[in-house]
Amino acid sequence: MPTEFPIMVLCQPDPGKSCGACCGLYNYVDSSRESLVKRLSARTRRYHEMVKGPEDLPRYAKATFAAEDFRKRYEVIYCCEYLGFLDAEEKKVGCLVHPLQNGGVDMRTVSFYGRDVCAGHLCPSHHFIPRSQQLILLKIIDDWYLYGLCLTDIDLVVSWFRLVADRVGEELKPEAFERQDLKEAALQYFRWKMTWPFRCEEANRLGKYYFDGSQYMISHIDYEKFGRDISPLNAILLSLSSEFHAAEELDQAEKMIWSNVEALALLYRGRL
Ligand code: SF4
Ligand code: SF4
Repeated sequence: MPTEFPIMVLCQPDPGKSCGACCGLYNYVDSSRESLVKRLSARTRRYHEMVKGPEDLPRYAKATFAAEDFRKRYEVIYCCEYLGFLDAEEKKVGCLVHPLQNGGVDMRTVSFYGRDVCAGHLCPSHHFIPRSQQLILLKIIDDWYLYGLCLTDIDLVVSWFRLVADRVGEELKPEAFERQDLKEAALQYFRWKMTWPFRCEEANRLGKYYFDGSQYMISHIDYEKFGRDISPLNAILLSLSSEFHAAEELDQAEKMIWSNVEALALLYRGRL
């Protein structure tokens, strides 16, 4: 496992964003930003109104299950009722029963996974996204919704950085991303996680995985149908949940990604 030590914990990196993906944040059938904001805001309000101590948690949970639609994308991933907003500005998603939210009292013992799993879990992105790429993501993304979506999609991140680094001739340096034009060019790519025009709108799908009712399957793009070899951008196209109905769409999608990679590389080379 290509871990660099010490591991930098990516869950709550700064005041501008955080991630709640492993608490089931994106696993609701409707995981649009609008729907999640409504859900998390209501929960946070309810929590602060109802919970003064551990004895109030069952009442809070009952009210939350009654108020929300808990249908999931993947049945095997739990959607935790204790995920909410941690700040008044709603910039940070996180655990409402964490000791930092409750005057030092750790109430994660009530969680589905149990306190130890909640406190100790570090997702694979900590190990498989190189440190320099993690740091660049932290510099360019200041939005909890986009941050969690991108951070947990290792292929989306690592494949793109590899393409740009190949053109630049070196690994990208985080300090270069203080520059606004570089940030914007990088963000153009990562925002496609939300706005990709070739995204398959099938509900039971997140990135390259789908759930067939019994197990995870990796989706695939039928290149043969278009008389094409597998695209060199296949990993990215899958991460963006692409579905193509004609060869022209595939061409257009590839062109968009290559243009972005070339633009970023040009800007980066001109940085000195
Ligand atoms: S998915 Fe990873 S980064 Fe996000 S909260 Fe879980 S462990 Fe942290
Ligand atoms: S109790 Fe565990 S799963 Fe639930 S929000 Fe907190 S950390 Fe996430």
